[in-house]
Amino acid sequence: MAWHSTSAHEQAATVNDSTPIPTSAATHGRPDGTLPTVAPPLWLLAELTYRCPLHCVFCYNPTNYAAHKNELTTAQWIAALQQARALGAAQLGFSGGEPLLRDDLETLVAHARKLGFYTNLITSGIGLTDTRLDALQAAGLDHIQLSFQDSTQELNDFLSSTRTFDLKKRVAASIRSHGFPMVLNCVLHRYNLPHVDKIIDMALDMGAEYLELANTQYYGWAHANRAQLMPTADQLREAESVVNQYRQRIGNRCTIYFVVPDYFETRPKRCMNGWGSVFLGIAPDGAALPCHTARSLPGLTFPNVIDTPLREIWYDSDAFNRFRGHSWMKEPCRSCDERFNDLGGCRCQAYLLTGDPANADPVCDKSPEHERVIQVVRAAAERTDDRTTEHPVLFRSDANSRRFIAQPGQPATEEPLRNGPGVRI
Ligand code: SF4
Ligand code: SF4
Repeated sequence: MAWHSTSAHEQAATVNDSTPIPTSAATHGRPDGTLPTVAPPLWLLAELTYRCPLHCVFCYNPTNYAAHKNELTTAQWIAALQQARALGAAQLGFSGGEPLLRDDLETLVAHARKLGFYTNLITSGIGLTDTRLDALQAAGLDHIQLSFQDSTQELNDFLSSTRTFDLKKRVAASIRSHGFPMVLNCVLHRYNLPHVDKIIDMALDMGAEYLELANTQYYGWAHANRAQLMPTADQLREAESVVNQYRQRIGNRCTIYFVVPDYFETRPKRCMNGWGSVFLGIAPDGAALPCHTARSLPGLTFPNVIDTPLREIWYDSDAFNRFRGHSWMKEPCRSCDERFNDLGGCRCQAYLLTGDPANADPVCDKSPEHERVIQVVRAAAERTDDRTTEHPVLFRSDANSRRFIAQPGQPATEEPLRNGPGVRI
C-alpha cells in the first residue's frame, strides 16, 4: 500500500518515546557551515516495491513507476536500514506498492527491530495470511496500518479494480486477533465522502483504535484522476461535521484523523515538516527521496543508496539541499512574513500546478497562480454528473504506467490519459 497520510506531521512527530536517537546522530550538524544546521531524519519510509495487486485510482506511486522495475536486494535494504538508524531515524514505515509481495519482509522487520526502529507495516492486506502475521509478530513488528477504499464492497472493489473487500475484512479480524493495534486508513474523495459515517461505523465494528480518513492529495495517479476525484466544498464540510459528531460521541475509543485537502485552504501546509527536515524516503530501486512524491520533480537527480552513503545523501546532496530552509524561495515567499511557518508549502504541488517547483504553492492565496486552484474547486462544484453517468477514471496499472512513460512531459494541467481497464464511474 502506498503511503497515504494527511497527518505526516503527526506521524513524524510521534516517534516512539522508547526509541532513543543515536547520540552520534543527535550531535551531527552540517560539516561545512554553509547551510543552517540540519537535524537528522526521524521518519524513514522504505518503499520496498512498486508491485501491487491492486489498481487504486488515487495511488500516490509515480505514474511512471513501470520505468523503475529494479528493487534493492535484502542485503541492500539491511545496509540502508543500518545507515538510516545510525543517522537518527527512529520510526520506520514499510510500504510500497504492496510490501507483502517481498518475501523478505519478515527478515527486514527483524533487522529493523534489532536496530531499534519502531516498525510500521502499511498494507492493503492482500497476502497477510495468519502464517505471515505469526512470522511478522515473531520478527517484532510493532504496528500495521490496513487500508480500505470504502465501507461498501461495490465501491471498495471498484476503486481498486479488484474483488478484495471481503478479504480485507478477514485480514482486519486476523490483525486484531493477533493483538496488534487496529489502525485503519481510508482515502477520501468525491465518491466516498458521502459514506464517511459508514466508514467510521465499519472501523468501530472492527475495533479500530486509529482511523485515518486521508482526504486525497493530488499527486501521482490521484492527480491524473483529479477531475473525477475532486469533491465539493459542501461534501467536505458535511463529512467534517459528521467526523466531529463521532469524535464527541465515541471519545477516546478511536482517534479519527481528518485533514481538509489543500485545494480548499488559502494557506499551504508545511509539507513533510519541511524538505529534508525529518522525512527520508527510499524508493524500491534505492533512490533516496525527501518526499515520497518528489520523483515527479524535474531537474533533480536523486542519489541512490546503492552507491552513496545515506549520511552524504542526507547532509550533502543537491537533491536534499535544493529546497531546504527558505533561501531557495522566489517572490512572493521570499519576502513573506509567513515563510518560516509553511516554508512555501509543497514543492510537488507547486510543480504540478505551476510548472516550477520553486514557486509558491498555489494553494496560497498570495500566489499569483492561486486562480488555478480556485478553477479546479469551482469545476468540482459545477460538475453535475455522478457515478450514474459515463466518466472514465484511470486505474493504476502497468499498461497505463507505460503510456505515461511513452508520453513524457505531458503537461500536468491537461486532461489525463484515458483508457483504463474499461470500467467507468
Ligand atoms: S494500488 Fe492501491 S494498494 Fe497498491 S500501492 Fe497504490 S494505493 Fe496502495
Ligand atoms: S506567500 Fe509563500 S511563504 Fe507566504 S504564506 Fe504564501 S506560500 Fe507561505
